[in-house]
Amino acid sequence: MVHAPPRPPAGSPPVRINLYSDTQTRPTPAMKEAMMRAEVGDEQHGDDPTVHALCDRMASLMGKEAAMFLPSGTMCNVIAILAHCRKGEEVLAHETSHILHSEGGAHAALTGVQIMPLRGPRGMFTAEALRAAIRPRTRYAPPQRLLEVEQTANIGGGAVWPRAQLEEVVAVAREQGWATHMDGARLMNACVATGIAPAEMVAGFDSVWLDFTKGLGAPLGAVLCGSREFIGEAWRWKQRLGGAMRQAGICAAACLYALDHHVERLAEDHANAKALARGLAEIEGVAVEEPETNLVFFDIAATGVPVATLQQRLLARGVAVSALGGRVRACTHLDVTAAMIPEAVAAIRDALAA
Ligand SMILES: *Cc1c(COP(=O)(O)O)cnc(C)c1O
Repeated sequence: MVHAPPRPPAGSPPVRINLYSDTQTRPTPAMKEAMMRAEVGDEQHGDDPTVHALCDRMASLMGKEAAMFLPSGTMCNVIAILAHCRKGEEVLAHETSHILHSEGGAHAALTGVQIMPLRGPRGMFTAEALRAAIRPRTRYAPPQRLLEVEQTANIGGGAVWPRAQLEEVVAVAREQGWATHMDGARLMNACVATGIAPAEMVAGFDSVWLDFTKGLGAPLGAVLCGSREFIGEAWRWKQRLGGAMRQAGICAAACLYALDHHVERLAEDHANAKALARGLAEIEGVAVEEPETNLVFFDIAATGVPVATLQQRLLARGVAVSALGGRVRACTHLDVTAAMIPEAVAAIRDALAA
């Protein structure tokens, strides 16, 4: 039995303040306009002009030779790992990484790699921890092939890898002859929070992808970037997995619109997340982590209220939050306004006291 996310109790009002995920934004009227006007062709056949425009733009933004449009971030990770690794090889990633916990076992089922979980606070690890995980090159040990990092680290609290720490882990990978892959689901949040340009942020990585459905407000789509050779190999897997599309320009147009209109405004989401954390910190029994980007994680163990109970009580008040790793997660995004923050804080205070 596979469980679905919690539904509002019968008779609940519609969700007014959706902090459940930054994936739940609706395309804006202007984004839909851009989608309607998109020039399209057969993407699989290589002649959708809007997909080409998006891929060219993303390759240049990331400072890579080539790019490929895919339906989802998960498919970017799966295809990147298939293109970088062979079955039985090892990928080194944080113990909280999305590839380990949230891809339905894709790497056991499809890519055939094993993942070495590395430890460290806030979804990050040091070069020293990475070095300690280096295996001897013997007949016994799985061959290590790929370093993977998440920028920002989701379960890590939306934390941003500092540039120096990224450079240090990349240096270890280079020295070992490993490839490097960045899961950049929320890369733009990291760039906006630090002021570092994307190409600079990802310079040490052989491959990187960005999700257009996390805070950028597109209905679907992610773009994987890398060398021409890497993207060529990735295309073989895209075709094999059924990720090659047809008139995908309709969706690429939404992504281009998001690049033009929804990147700089991520700063508002970060400010709203900080305001939310300040409000939550004043509620008795709530331990809140200082947000760096748009994800606010808080612990309510000291209140004695189970997380699932808080979720249900909040849904009855028109507010949605998610539960991750025993903590509560609240995401700010395009559809969450500054005016909603005090309302959300009041609803959480009220629900914990009920
Ligand atoms: C959401 C997410 C993914 C997967 O992206 P989908 O578009 O949902 O498939 C991968 N990694 C991280 C860190 C994410 O947050």
